[in-house]
Formats: sequence, structure tokens, C-alpha cells
Amino acid sequence: ETFEELFLPDLMASNVKKAGYSKPTPIQKFAMRNILDGKDLMACSQTGSGKTAAFLLPIMSKLTKDGDLSNISETTCAPRVLILAPTRELAIQIHKEATKFSSGTMCRCEILYGGTSVRYQKERVQKGATILVGTTGRIKHFIDEGIVTLDRTKYLILDEADRMLDMGFSEDINLIMQNGKIAEKEVRQTLMFSATFPSSVQELVKQLLKEEYLMIV
Ligand code: AMP
Repeated sequence: ETFEELFLPDLMASNVKKAGYSKPTPIQKFAMRNILDGKDLMACSQTGSGKTAAFLLPIMSKLTKDGDLSNISETTCAPRVLILAPTRELAIQIHKEATKFSSGTMCRCEILYGGTSVRYQKERVQKGATILVGTTGRIKHFIDEGIVTLDRTKYLILDEADRMLDMGFSEDINLIMQNGKIAEKEVRQTLMFSATFPSSVQELVKQLLKEEYLMIV
């Protein structure tokens, strides 16, 4: 597998090159083709493995084929991709990488996290987002306020799922999952990443992934 085989739009392909990525890491090799094929995925992987690009690049490639990426209205943000992270630091890293890859394209990346003013984040997301990344509490708040809708969200990614559960976010995850298109696991594509695979994560896999999912260890 190479990055070329992801059929990335030219601009994105050149962004990947500019980022200094010449060949895929092992997780990228295993995950990319399967994500492109529409499979659900559970990957046991650490930070440093290249997991962020492993899910971002094939999903971004699929977005361009899905066509219309426009916002639902002037006041409601309708992301096509929702990425949940346990901490603000991880959310920022993912958002940075997504922004780098999508530079100059139609794909807009936005970020939401707690501990900072809602007002500024609201102004930003209302301009629309194709990819929305953030921490669960703030994302749930924005959904409850009607600022974010998951009616058009086809792709769900949970990064560092074990940490999210350790930090007590399972209730938030469940509440977020009840909204819009994302509520049905047969309709959405779900990707989970976790450094460890305790029974709590296994339960979440059963709950969120389609029966025939791919497991990468
Ligand atoms: P991650 O595991 O996603 O946090 O990525 C770890 C680091 O590796 C990040 O700084 C990435 O920018 C970098 N990286 C990811 N994939 C590649 C690749 N294929 N070639 C070179 N660097 C990469």
C-alpha cells in the first residue's frame, strides 16, 4: 500500500507529501485500504504509530467521493465526520493534522473542547465544518444547544477509547450516539483506536462496531 492508492485529491496528496510522509507506517498500511472499503475498525495502537493519518487520510478520500460537503444552514454545523478524543491536547493534535492535510481544499476542520469560552467556538463552528474533532462534554453541549447536528454524520472515530472510558466519558459517548444519522451503526462507519483492550473497551466495541469489524493488534 502506498499513499497514492488512497486516491486522494491532488491537493491533499501534495499536502501529505509536504508534511514529509513518503511511505505509510504499518498501521497506515493495514488500516487505510479497509477504511476505504467501508469496514468498521478496532485498532490497538499507541501515539507515535501514525494512527491519526491512518484514519484521516482514507476518510478524507471518501469525503471527496461523497460529494456535497456544504453546511446545513447558517447557524447549524453539520459535520460529515465526528472525531471524539479524551483530552483537549489530543483533540488539538488531531485537528492540526486534519487542517494540514486539507489545506486549500473544500474540507473544513473545526475543534471543540471544554475549559474555554463557548462563544468563540460557536462563531467558528457556525461557519460550518466537514470534520469536527473534540472532547465529549463540549460536543454534547453544542448538540444540546442545537448548534451542532449529527444528521449528516457518516463517520465516527473514537481515539484513545480506553482513556475516554477511564475518564468517565461513557455516558457522554452514549448520549452523543443517540443523535441523527450517527445513531445507527449500520448507517455510519465507526473506527476505534485504543492503546489497551480491557473488557470495558471490548464492551464498547460490541456496542458501537458492526458485527463484522476488522481488528488490528
Ligand atoms: P500519531 O501516531 O498519529 O500521533 O503520529 C505520530 C507522528 O508521526 C506525527 O508527528 C505524524 O506527523 C508522524 N507521521 C505519521 N505518519 C507518518 C508517515 N507515514 N511518515 C512520516 N511521518 C508520519
